[in-house]
Amino acid sequence: MRDPRYDILFQPLGVGPLTAKNRFYQVPHCNGGGYRDPSAAAAMRGVKAEGGWGVIFTEQTEMHHTSEITPFIELRLWEDKDIPSIAKMAAAMKTHGALAGIQLAYSGINGPNMYTKEVPLAPSALPIRTFTNDPVQARAMDKTDIRNLRRWFVNAARRSKLAGFDLICLYGAHGFGIFQHFLSRATNQRGDEYGGSLENRSRFAREVIADMREAVGDTMALTLRVSLDETIGDLGFSNAEVRDFVSMNAELPDLWDLAMGTWEDCSGPSRFKEEAAQEAWVTGIRDLSPRPVVGVGRFTSPDVMARMIKSGRLDFIGCARPSIADPFLPRKIDEGRVEDIRECIGCNICITGDMTQGMGRCTQNPTWMEEWRRGWHPEKIATKGESQTVLVIGSGPAGLEAARAAAMRGYDVALAEARPDFGGRVARERLLPGLSAWGRVADYRLFQLKQRPNVQMYPGSRLTADEVMEFGFQHVCVATGSHWRADGVARQHVVPMPVDAMMPVLTPDDLMEGRLPAGKVVIFDDDHYYMGGVLAELCARQGCEVTLVTPSAFVSDWTANTLEQASIHRRLVSLGVRIVLNTGLVAIHAGEVETNCSYTNQRARIGCDSVVMVASRRSDDAVYLALKSREADWADAGIRSVKVIGDAAAPAPIAWATFAGHRYARELDAPDWGDALPFRREVTRLED
Ligand code: ADP
Ligand code: SF4
Repeated sequence: MRDPRYDILFQPLGVGPLTAKNRFYQVPHCNGGGYRDPSAAAAMRGVKAEGGWGVIFTEQTEMHHTSEITPFIELRLWEDKDIPSIAKMAAAMKTHGALAGIQLAYSGINGPNMYTKEVPLAPSALPIRTFTNDPVQARAMDKTDIRNLRRWFVNAARRSKLAGFDLICLYGAHGFGIFQHFLSRATNQRGDEYGGSLENRSRFAREVIADMREAVGDTMALTLRVSLDETIGDLGFSNAEVRDFVSMNAELPDLWDLAMGTWEDCSGPSRFKEEAAQEAWVTGIRDLSPRPVVGVGRFTSPDVMARMIKSGRLDFIGCARPSIADPFLPRKIDEGRVEDIRECIGCNICITGDMTQGMGRCTQNPTWMEEWRRGWHPEKIATKGESQTVLVIGSGPAGLEAARAAAMRGYDVALAEARPDFGGRVARERLLPGLSAWGRVADYRLFQLKQRPNVQMYPGSRLTADEVMEFGFQHVCVATGSHWRADGVARQHVVPMPVDAMMPVLTPDDLMEGRLPAGKVVIFDDDHYYMGGVLAELCARQGCEVTLVTPSAFVSDWTANTLEQASIHRRLVSLGVRIVLNTGLVAIHAGEVETNCSYTNQRARIGCDSVVMVASRRSDDAVYLALKSREADWADAGIRSVKVIGDAAAPAPIAWATFAGHRYARELDAPDWGDALPFRREVTRLED
C-alpha cells in the first residue's frame, strides 16, 4: 500500500482544459531513436504510460523544415506525412490514462540545417550555436518571416492535434528553442518591436501562444519551456528576468515548464549536480503566476518529490533520466514498493544515444529503447525455459544483472564472487570522487537478489574451471571483468610502450585499491572517458602535483557525449591540475616521461615520481578460456552452455555490462540467433 506521505504526488491537477491524473510529469527527452526508429521510440513512451506517469512528452519535434538539427535524431513534423509516426507515439502515451504531450521546437540560432540546406532564421543574424560550431550563420528574420513562423506554429499545432496529442510544449530552454532566442538579449539584438525591452522580447511568445490558443486551445493545453537562467551573465535571459517575464505574462501558457541554462547545466551528471540542484533557482516562481509549474532535478527520491510539492515550489515533478532508469517509478511509489525503484545514477549514458546518433542506452535500465526492437519490458520477463540451473561467475554489473534477470525468470541461480564484497568495478568506482551514486547499479541489484529464494550468493569464492566442471550447473555465465593495463597499450600505442623499471607505473586498479601516488605524478589518458579525469581529481585532492597528458585535444574527450567535458576541465583547473593536450607519451624513463606532440611529433620531457597509466583494459577471461578448451567434456559434466559476457568479453562502459547481463538472461534456453538479426528494425518505405 502507498505511504500516505506520498499521497500528494497522486492528486490530479488541471492543466488548461485538461486534467493530469497525478504529478509525475515525464518532460521531453531525446533517445537516439526519433524519426529513424519511430516504433521503438513509441513503444518506449508506452512503457512509461504503463509505469504510471501522468504526463508524457515526446522528444524535441522539429516543427518546420527551415529549422533542423542534423546530425541529432529527434522527431519531425514537417508535413502531413509525418503524422502517422508521431500519432503512434501519442497513442502509446495515452494507453493508461496519461496525457500525451508533444514538444514543438523551432531551433533558430541552434539549427544549422545540414539536411534541408535552408538558410537558418533567427531573431538576429549571428553564427549558429551548436556543439559542433558549424560554419553557418543565421539570417535575421524580417516581419514576413515572423508572420510565416507564427503560421507554421499554428500548422504544427493542428497537426499535433490530428496526431492525438493533448499538450503542446513550446521549446524555449537550453539555448535550443526560438522562444529563448527572442527572450534573451544575447540572441535578440533587434531594434524593432520584437527587441529591446522585455515587453518587446516577449512579444513573439505572446503572439504564437495567442495564435495557437485560437487554433487548438479549446481542447489542448499549451506549455512554455524556458530556462531558469541562461547562465551567461547579465546579457542573457537571467533568473531575475525569468521572474519578471513570468510576472508580466502570468496567464500566458497553461503551465510553466522550467528547465535550466544549457542542456549541460540542466542535465548535469551526478558527479557535478545533486538531486534537486535547481531548487534555489525555481523557488518563488510559482507564486508569480496562477499557472502550475513543473521543474526537474534528477528526482529519484519520493520524499524529495513530496517536499517539492508540499513546499509550494513545484506542482509537477518533472523527470527525464529518472523515468528512463525506471519507467515504473510512479507505480512503485503508488504500490508502496519504494525500495524497488531503480534509481538513476546520473551517468548520462542515456544522452550518448542522441550525441552519437546511436541507439539510447541506460546503465540502470538495459531494456530502454529495446521495448519494441527486442520486445523487452523493464518489469516483465518470460518465465524460464526447460533447464533449471545457472552459475554466474563474477558480481560486477554484468554478473549482477544476469543473475537478477535469470532469477526473475525462475532459474535457480548461484552467484560466485572472488572478492569479499559484491559489485565488481562498481564497488570500487563508487569510492572515486563524485561517483558515489554509481553504486546504485550494485545496490539495486543486490537488494533484488536478496529477496529471491532461488538465488544463492557466494562471496569470497574465486572459482577455477575445474571447480565449475565439477559443480555441474547447466548454464555457466562468465562475467569476470577486466583489469587496466600498465603497458600503455590503447590508441597511441597498439603494442607496449618502452617503460624503465625504475619508474613506478600505477593503473586505475592500483589507485582504486588504495595504492596512491605521491609527489609529482603524470597521468597519461589514452582512454578518453571519465577515468583519467577522475583520477587526476583524486590525486590532486591527495596533495599530488598532477600533470594530465593526453593525445586528445580535450580532457576526457568522450565525456562531451555525457555533457560533462567542460565541467571536468573546469574542475581540474580549479584543483591545480596541469593539463597537457595534443600530446602523447613515447617512453617512460627513470624520473621523467618523454612526450610527443600529436601533430608534429616534437619531443619534450616532464619530470615526475610516478605515472598513472589510463590506457585500455584486458579481459579477465582465463576461466572462460579454460572452460572453452574443455568443451568436449561439457555434456558429461551436465553443462549445456558456457558464455562470456561484459568486460570479460570486451571491456566497455558499465551500461554495456548491464545490457550484456540482461541479454544473457533473456536468451537462456532460447534458440541461437544464428545468422539472423537479433532485433526488429524499422526500414524506410521507398516512395513510388
Ligand atoms: P563487468 O563490468 O563485466 O561486470 P567487473 O569487473 O565489474 O565486470 O566484475 C567482475 C567481477 O568478477 C569482479 O568482482 C571479480 O572479482 C570477479 N571475478 C573475477 N574472476 C573471478 C573468478 N574466477 N571467480 C569468481 N569471481 C571472479
Ligand atoms: Fe540515469 Fe545513467 Fe540511465 Fe541516464 S543512463 S537514465 S543517467 S542511469
